[in-house]
Amino acid sequence: MLEILFLLLPLAFYSGWRTAYKKNRSNQTATTEVSTRLVQGINFLLNEEPDKALDVFLEAPSLDAQTAETFLVLGKMFRNRGEVNRALRLHQHLVARPDLTNNQRQVAMLALGEDFFAAGLLDRAESVFNELIKTYPKNTAACIPLRRIYEQLREWEKAFILTECSVIDKTERIRLMAHYLCEQVEELLAKNQLFQVDEKLKKALSIYPQSVRVQTLFAELALARGERSAALKYFRQALMYDQRLLSSLVKRLLTVFTQPIELQQLYEVINSEYRRNPDVKMLPALTAIAQEVGQGSSLLPVIHQHLQHELGNVQTLACSARYLSSESDTKAALSELSLALGRLANTLPRFQCANCGYKLHEYVWRCPACHHWDSVQSQ
Ligand SMILES: [Zn+2]
Repeated sequence: MLEILFLLLPLAFYSGWRTAYKKNRSNQTATTEVSTRLVQGINFLLNEEPDKALDVFLEAPSLDAQTAETFLVLGKMFRNRGEVNRALRLHQHLVARPDLTNNQRQVAMLALGEDFFAAGLLDRAESVFNELIKTYPKNTAACIPLRRIYEQLREWEKAFILTECSVIDKTERIRLMAHYLCEQVEELLAKNQLFQVDEKLKKALSIYPQSVRVQTLFAELALARGERSAALKYFRQALMYDQRLLSSLVKRLLTVFTQPIELQQLYEVINSEYRRNPDVKMLPALTAIAQEVGQGSSLLPVIHQHLQHELGNVQTLACSARYLSSESDTKAALSELSLALGRLANTLPRFQCANCGYKLHEYVWRCPACHHWDSVQSQ
């Protein structure tokens, strides 16, 4: 598609120059020059000599609206084809021209910033986007790419400021704002600047009270201050908002809360969360903590329930196997486990296309995704 558009460009140029021709009919000399330049440029483009075409086009003495528009399309196509240097040359030329309208200049500056970004020259892109925002405060188009640059540069405060003009959806905006504050908090925590951590976290909490990341960072702040029971309270709050967090937190929790009474409290917190909302994916963390506090046998009914009635995944079955091997009769456990494994195996695709990776439950001679013959194999 891109190639077709690229080949159509000469027509667009022709149309632009034709308009210029009509407007300047009285000026015979200029018209002759425009026509000659047009033919030269098109010839170079068709002969795949884009640099020579660029030279000819960029020497155009004046720009009308259509020609400027065509230049912008050409520049975008160069960038999309990975020819960033050509795009840069064209957009730099456009931005420097005195005969652009305000609108054209804004579009050209935005395109120039995107070229620098595509070329990996983040500081140059940043400076162009900032210039655009400063010169045309009502133009917010540069806010999104500029915010992404600050994300890459880990300049979270600047990214935070740009969320207002770059994210329309309110939920998405407050989520991002909270993440930018949390990134700053993690850096401040590493430097042990706890007062600033507290300030940033309170701000994040007021913006997005349901953020699990904010709750876990409050827990980390409490730990840094030696307030261990407060830390546990915050971890619990985070788990209430999102149980899936447990699998990533469990290692940290078991490293931090090592005292028997703390482990017991931790087990009670996680166990009550599991009872409130049983999610089989919590089993590995739950069993790890139960065994840590010597409550191994108390989870046997939960494990039996899982193996007999729930599907789970490879991780939950592996954890159930480990658990049963230490807590119950091995023969009965093996039979229960093999039934659960069989159930899980029936849900997994047995075949895969060697050409495109498409997975299937039944063997077919021709892959339904890439239409290759004889490419389906058992996996
Ligand atoms: Zn295939």
